[in-house]
Order: sequence, then structure tokens, then C-alpha cells
Amino acid sequence: MPHSLVYHMVRQKKKKKLQLFDSQHFADMLSLLRENKLHFQRGQSWDASPGSALRFSQEHVLALRFTARAENMVSLCLALLSSLPLLWFLRGGHAMPDPARRDLLMREEMSRQTGGLLALTAAEQKLDARLRQLKEQEMSAARFLPAVHFFRAKPLIEKSSIFKLLQKMPKGAALHIHSSSLVDVEWLVKNVTYRPHCYVCFTWDNSVRFLFSDRQPFPRWDCFYWQLLETLRAKTGDCTEFDNGLIQHLTLFTEDPEGEYPNQDVVWEKFEKAFVAAAGLVTHAPVLRDYYYQGLEELHKDNIMYLEVRSGLSKTYELDGTVHDKSWTLSLFQEVTEKFRKDHPDFLGAQIIISVHRALSVSEVRAAVKEAIQLKRDFPDVVAGFDLVGRENVGRSLWDFREALSLPAELGASLPYFFHAGETDDEGTDVDQNILDALLFNTSRIGHGYALPHHPLAKELSRNRNIAVELCPISNQVLMLISDLRNHPAAVLMSEGHPMVVSSDDPSLFGTSGLSYDFYEAFVGIGGLKANLGTLKELAVNSIRYSSLPAHLQNAGLHMWQNKWDTFISDNS
Ligand SMILES: [Zn+2]
Repeated sequence: MPHSLVYHMVRQKKKKKLQLFDSQHFADMLSLLRENKLHFQRGQSWDASPGSALRFSQEHVLALRFTARAENMVSLCLALLSSLPLLWFLRGGHAMPDPARRDLLMREEMSRQTGGLLALTAAEQKLDARLRQLKEQEMSAARFLPAVHFFRAKPLIEKSSIFKLLQKMPKGAALHIHSSSLVDVEWLVKNVTYRPHCYVCFTWDNSVRFLFSDRQPFPRWDCFYWQLLETLRAKTGDCTEFDNGLIQHLTLFTEDPEGEYPNQDVVWEKFEKAFVAAAGLVTHAPVLRDYYYQGLEELHKDNIMYLEVRSGLSKTYELDGTVHDKSWTLSLFQEVTEKFRKDHPDFLGAQIIISVHRALSVSEVRAAVKEAIQLKRDFPDVVAGFDLVGRENVGRSLWDFREALSLPAELGASLPYFFHAGETDDEGTDVDQNILDALLFNTSRIGHGYALPHHPLAKELSRNRNIAVELCPISNQVLMLISDLRNHPAAVLMSEGHPMVVSSDDPSLFGTSGLSYDFYEAFVGIGGLKANLGTLKELAVNSIRYSSLPAHLQNAGLHMWQNKWDTFISDNS
């Protein structure tokens, strides 16, 4: 059981102001910490015994009393570090700064960033030097790819040597992906729509619906005229063009993103339509089985070993119209995951975060929470928790749902939350406050957290409670929160070593696969030249550490990941 850490700064009686360390004091403190086998690693346990103290017999007395909780140590050290530059500048006035102190200042700042405290092996340093050289080349190129819209940058990113290395890198887990956009749309169209009994209907609002049926489907409010896809495709002279037309309905990808999506409203409308269009294909029971296996295959191919997928568990249907309930769908998910693990022993597994749309009423969400509590009881190893999805700006805020979200506490039940929060650039609005409300409701991670750097208290709380932000850079760019990824707010979080993982949100809609594309944007664009191999290593480790896996499976996963990492380093250094 770790102890909580408190520290006391003792002022000298004669001093009016507390003077913190100079570099010598800091170096002394570091060596004392090392002697006591304490490490500056967030999230690790500490072996400081209660009541033990580190004392400095220097002019400025500081006593550190360890009674200690690990994660708070980082905050303490950062607080101490933050005083150093100020002290130096005050002492130096306008005189020429000491180059040695400048160098130390730079190194200390670097140590705060994601992965900044990791010591790299000789082989890792070699690969790191190569990565830096490659990054310098990409940064000095005529077009810096993270500043370009992903739809235009994608073919160029695929040629990047950094991207090719990232594809080979073991990236750990994918913790923020939605089930309806898990699999490449090319597979959906070229495989699924070629199956028999597939009907298609083009709607009045320029969308498309699919339905598998053993008879001609009845007209519906949104679809009056269903056609057998096989027959329709045969009638068109050019199957490729016809299939490309279908693909256009299932993805946001376009060659002219700025022209086609002039604002967030337009891009979100197309985004939601694509989800509805895909639903008829992926909720057909035999397709869902193959679809989900294919999704795991695509992740595994990109060197990912574990998945937490958000899913509404939409009703799955058979050819004769029989509809299955959510328990049936969870059993199928469990069965397919087990089969995939058997076929791929280096894959850890997968869990589902049950998610409902935030456009629902409070009573509907309350019912959904109640149902999720039961499903979590029935499938404890499959259901990770609960989330609300859909555009935050137009849906209800978390606070609107407070009655529904308080239900687990009322019932004394366990239902971890994984809220999308702060996926907005509307600062100061109710939606913007979702980020604080997510923390009030004890969210386990924060989906996106785009607005987090604007909320100092929320930032502090999430850091102290080790609540990771799920960074999805390509999603933020395509859904028009940011155009040049160098300006992404997560750059601040990354420079501070805030708990963070990288994910892809809706890979099929953005034309990505796995996590390598998002890792590229985070590493090259958001992290810039500062982000190094240590950053990549910590991001990958974070993805397992911040997952819902129980401790023993996290440890097994980290061990397995380390072996893959060592092979990756020796193959590429
Ligand atoms: Zn999402």
C-alpha cells in the first residue's frame, strides 16, 4: 500500500521569502533520491518508508518528509524545478547567462516532457539519433505534412521513413476507436456488399442504407425503394465507379476537404450520415463476426496488441429479420476475440466501452446506464465501462445527464466512465465545462480533452489522479478543430508529460488504419523536434498502463510489449 507524500519547506527565520534550490541543491536532492532508489517515474510505486526524511544542510533548509504517494512526487519535483529558471534569471540580471546553467535549464525542461525521464539504452540512442535526423529533414521540406490536411498529406506520409518506422514499432493498445469505423471501408464495399441478399436504398438526403434480407424489404420512412445490390451493380457498366460511389458514402475522405467541408457543421453532418450508412452492413450477424475479426487483424498488422472499442451494441439482425439483444452481441464479441487470440498468441485481447448518443433524453440515458451496469455484471471481462458519444456542441452536456450518470453510485454498482470531453473549441460554454464534469463523475480517461489546456484546475486534477487524455490528432484535424497540427493544444500537455495515449477515433472514416498515422502526426507535428524515442516509448507503455486490463494482465502485456520493443530496437538501430 503506497503512502501519501507530503513535503514541508522550512523557511529560515531571517529570510522573508522562501528561496528554493539552486542547481547544486537540486543535484544534491537528486543524488539523495537515487541513493534511496527513488525514481522520477509517474505511476510507479515508491519504496520510501513513512517518516524518513531527506534533509539539506545548506543555507536554505528544505526538509522532504516522505510518508508518500508516488504520483505526487512528480508534482513536487516539477514545483521545485519550476522555481529554478526564475531564480537564475533574478540572480543574473542582465548579465550574460552562464552557458552551463543554460544547458542545465534546457535539459531540465526536456525532462518534463512525455518520456523525458526515460533513460535510453545505447541502441535506443542510436535509433533516436536517426529519427531526429529524419525529422529535421521533414521539418525543412517545402511542405511540412502535419500542417497539411490529412487527406492531402496521407500519400506523402506513407512515403515518410519515420512513418515506415512507426508502422513497425510496437504501439501497445488502441484505447479510443468506435466500432462502426473500425474496419477499412474498402473491405466493407469489396467484401461485404458483394455478399448475397444485400439490398441498397438511396435516400432523399443523398445518403445510403443497406439491409441483408431473404425477401424484398418493406419500404421504411427513410427508404421507399430497396434494390438488390447484385442486380444494380450488374446493370451499371463500371463496377469500380459504382463501388467508389458507395465508398464515398461510408467515409469522409475527399480530394478537396476545404471545399467540401467549409465548416464544422457540414463535416459533422457527413460524419453522422456515414455512421448510419454503415450500420445496415455491420449489424448483420454473419458480417459482424467477420467485420470484427477483420478489425482486429488490421490493428494487429499495425503492431497493436490490445483494443478498447466504443460500441452502442446496436441490435444485430439475421437474414430472416430475427433481432438479437445486446448480450448476444457481447457473447459474439467475446467469442471472436478468443478466436483471434488463439490465432494470434501475441494479441492480448479486447474490451468494449458501451456508448450511447448524447442526443438521447435524460431518461433514455438513465435506462442505458442501468442496462450497462447489468451488462458489466454479466460480462465483467468484456465490458470496460460506459461513454456518451456524438458531437458535444449539439448534444446534451454531461451535467444535463447528472441524474442518469449518478445511478451507479446510487445503486452501489461499478461502472467505470470513459467520457468524451472537451472535444470543442467553444471556450467557456456549457459544453466546454464537460471536461470538469467528466472529472467530477470520476472518468477513468478523457476522450480527446482538446480543451483541457484551457482548464488549469481540470488539468491538475487529471494529472494528479493519473487520468489519461486520449489524443486523436487526425480526428481533430478532419473534424475541423485545428488545421495545422503544430498548434494542437496537446503540444502543451506533451511538453508537460501529462498522462496521455494516442488513438485513431474513427479510422475508416478518415482513411487510416491502425495507429501509425496518428502516431506520426503526434510525434512529428505535435511533439516537433523535442519529441524523441523516449516520447514514443512512454506513449506506447501508457496505452497499456492506462487500459482497463487488470494489473496482472497489464504486467503480462508490458512484458510482452518489452520483448517486441527490444526486437524493434535491435532491428532498426
Ligand atoms: Zn470518439
